[in-house]
Amino acid sequence: MSKYETIIGLEVHVELATETKIFCSCPTSFGSAPNTNVCPICLGFPGALPVLNKKAVEYAVMAGLALNCEIPAFSKFDRKNYFYPDLPKAYQISQYDQPVALNGYLEIDVDGKEKRIGITRIHLEEDAGKLIHAEYGGYSLADYNRGGVPLIEIVSEPEINSPEEAKAYLEKLRSIILYTGISDVKMEEGSLRCDANISIRPVGSKEFGTRVEIKNMNSFRAVQRALEYEVQRHQEVLASGGTLVQETRRWDENNGVTISMRSKEEADDYRYFPDPDLVPVVVPAQWVEEIRQKLPELPDARRKRYQQQYKLSAYDAEVITASKQMADFFEATLKEYDDPKAVANWLMGDIAKHLNTEGIEINETKLTPSHLAELLALLDKGTISGKIAKTVFEEMFASGKKPAQIVEEKGLVQISDEGAIAAVVDQVIAENPKAVEDYRSGQQKAMGFLVGQVMKLTRGKANPQLVNKLLREKL
Ligand SMILES: [Zn+2]
Repeated sequence: MSKYETIIGLEVHVELATETKIFCSCPTSFGSAPNTNVCPICLGFPGALPVLNKKAVEYAVMAGLALNCEIPAFSKFDRKNYFYPDLPKAYQISQYDQPVALNGYLEIDVDGKEKRIGITRIHLEEDAGKLIHAEYGGYSLADYNRGGVPLIEIVSEPEINSPEEAKAYLEKLRSIILYTGISDVKMEEGSLRCDANISIRPVGSKEFGTRVEIKNMNSFRAVQRALEYEVQRHQEVLASGGTLVQETRRWDENNGVTISMRSKEEADDYRYFPDPDLVPVVVPAQWVEEIRQKLPELPDARRKRYQQQYKLSAYDAEVITASKQMADFFEATLKEYDDPKAVANWLMGDIAKHLNTEGIEINETKLTPSHLAELLALLDKGTISGKIAKTVFEEMFASGKKPAQIVEEKGLVQISDEGAIAAVVDQVIAENPKAVEDYRSGQQKAMGFLVGQVMKLTRGKANPQLVNKLLREKL
């Protein structure tokens, strides 16, 4: 089956976090009552005239710069004509042949191999409304709050050659956009949406195979699964002598399959033409420079710095810098506790586990850099053991209390008094003659059991080194 190569291109829509919509002053806030954030402009009333939101252009340029694009001095808006009930004007204001950014790239890392994926273009456009289809009754409700929210569409070159590369591309793209702060890029809330174009062709062939577009993928994992499914389907169709149809297919998450929606329309079908209500966008070089100055340090640069400055491994640096919030938290913790590796281990271990389970970023938790630094200091001083530190961490994560307060309230201070531990050790030896005998006859496993008994009686508070030492002495 490896005689085919896979060609994937991704189109990613990102909602820009402007206060107001792209062509009117309606708020962009998510979750308002239906049809409350609307006006004659975004509802497309006859005679209402759009005025471009400068912030939306600034954000689009910022995305372009972060993705190594050229920023042309002029761009313009075009009408993309189609009828659908979520689009009251029956055309979407978008950009066709003169987008705001061109010819960029980003770098991905798959199985230790770096690869550059080209970005063809980034264009600005308005979002459509949202249809809510009734489960029973055969009707749909239209909410136009989202209509007119600014979007950028980021189109990759067809240079992605596997579903894994597609996932890596999306993760890197999301990370870069998050760093710029122009969007919260939450796939679950629809502020990042992805469509994929996929085709396969015999290895060595110069011509592209028949292309299929896939929609309705609601997570990066879904993108990867849908593409894996399509690669398989294409290969099977060709192997059995069949022909593929150029079409749009929908990913069905529950059944793990794609389903044909419609045969694919060509750009001609949209009858693009310049929007006569909007003047061309002029982007002076000086403004581009001002925006470039506002760009923060981006993930790749930060990762390299972490390897040099903090001596983190490539892997650790990659994991910590993938999220800006995580990297900021890491650096804030280091201001109070200067051991990069120890801080990185906590972030990538217990903390990452909680964040993944709850699907949140670290700044959305009750945890603070000071709390983590204090916990690590308590460990260093021997006030608490490593095992107790985990207990304190759980409580700290849940309640937001300071670790010292938790230790005091719950009486978790480590017992390092030899006399106190010796008494418990004597008790354990007296109560477990069988284990004592096993240990003396050479069974090392019995030692673990006896240590466990001491820890149980002291509720995990005994200093483990002391327990081991005293047990060995007395046996
Ligand atoms: Zn409006």
